[in-house]
Amino acid sequence: MTKESVLVCGGGIAGLAATLGLAKAGFNVALIAPGTTPASAPTDTYSPRVYAISAASQAFLARLGVWNMMDARRLTPVEAMEVYGDGGGSLNLQAWQAAQTALAWIVESSEIERALHQAVQVFGVAWHQEKFQRLESNTVFTDTGRALKADLLVGADGAQSPVRTAAGIHHDSRPYGDMGLVLHLDAELPHQNIAMQWFTGDSILALLPLPDTADGHQVSMVWSMPEAMAKALMALPEDERNKNLEVRLAAISNGRLGRLTARSPMFGFPLFLDQSGMVAPGVALVSDAAHRVHPLAGQGLNLGLADVAELIRVLGDKETYRGPGDLRVLHRYRRARAEPIMAMRVATDGLHRLFAVQAAPVAWARNVGMQCVDHLPFIKRFLIGGASGS
Ligand SMILES: Cc1cc2nc3c(=O)[nH]c(=O)nc-3n(C[C@H](O)[C@H](O)[C@H](O)COP(=O)(O)OP(=O)(O)OC[C@H]3O[C@@H](n4cnc5c(N)ncnc54)[C@H](O)[C@@H]3O)c2cc1C
Repeated sequence: MTKESVLVCGGGIAGLAATLGLAKAGFNVALIAPGTTPASAPTDTYSPRVYAISAASQAFLARLGVWNMMDARRLTPVEAMEVYGDGGGSLNLQAWQAAQTALAWIVESSEIERALHQAVQVFGVAWHQEKFQRLESNTVFTDTGRALKADLLVGADGAQSPVRTAAGIHHDSRPYGDMGLVLHLDAELPHQNIAMQWFTGDSILALLPLPDTADGHQVSMVWSMPEAMAKALMALPEDERNKNLEVRLAAISNGRLGRLTARSPMFGFPLFLDQSGMVAPGVALVSDAAHRVHPLAGQGLNLGLADVAELIRVLGDKETYRGPGDLRVLHRYRRARAEPIMAMRVATDGLHRLFAVQAAPVAWARNVGMQCVDHLPFIKRFLIGGASGS
């Protein structure tokens, strides 16, 4: 019996996880992705992109066999979360309140990619270090002119997704007009494995715990703010920018971690709310190719990995007489993902809107609301479940 064939396009975390998971599930998988395996980082240097990996994503990566391939010293469990409103409201979520060991793990993008690259290679998957170029009937052409046929093409090729365009899948994109600024900071005080977030009215600041190094304590910053404000900060000469940053972070964080000073370059990402139709005959999209949400809850990649897990489940459960590219099968995947994706869109977009309103009654209500939730153990358990993706 010939194995059903799947082509995965895109060598980001979602594409590599899809490739590995489908290969393990018995499909004949090939990957189209340029790029080399990231090298192990030097001990005290941390790559600028870090993710809050939910408990559900952690369990999926463990099932794929890659969680234990990562350097445990570089993974930070988030044992609690502190959220501060703009008018004295605050919320404190602890993993133990929902009988969990961690709400999430903070992991460098490069560390997950390195483990996935190695696992995909060990599994002997055909890997074409080329770019997807076009789709004709069910034949894929790469930028070297190679033609590849498959029963299913999985587009894991990021937010601009050439696969989505080639397959003519409907896509809506709404720019927030905000940018997310990321960099690592030296912190004067220990973070105690607590993730912290401040809603200031015109920006949202998150500080995520990273391992201590010889230079002391460190946290990763994700600060989303209006584009003009972000560009003005990024345009300052480095010294001036770092001083400006230190003063503003001290004011927002109210000295919660003592002095905070830049320890890495700063990067900026424009933020979008995107959604797509996700499937077409012979084509399925996963992760950023299919949707994007505001990073205030740190859930974009977690949603993407849940797509991958669901696609593997649906393909594994399909009737033998249907191929993996059968639209009926792919609709099952789309339907199963519709509700969790919508819930995350509504939650992140709703929070973003709620805290963007400056009117005094709204500001008062949201801060009082936070105080109330902080005293309701049942709702807190529910929120902790949401944060950990369980
Ligand atoms: C500031 C910020 C903070 C965030 N923090 C978090 C967080 O804490 N937790 C979380 O879960 N999510 C977070 N996210 C979201 C997360 O970054 C994305 O959801 C995630 O990176 C998507 O991964 P992906 O594999 O789908 O896409 P990508 O990482 O974009 O990978 C797509 C891949 O496809 C390749 N590709 C593109 N075109 C082609 C082609 N023609 N042929 C072949 N390959 C191609 C690209 O080279 C790339 O390797 C954050 C996002 C932002 C902006």
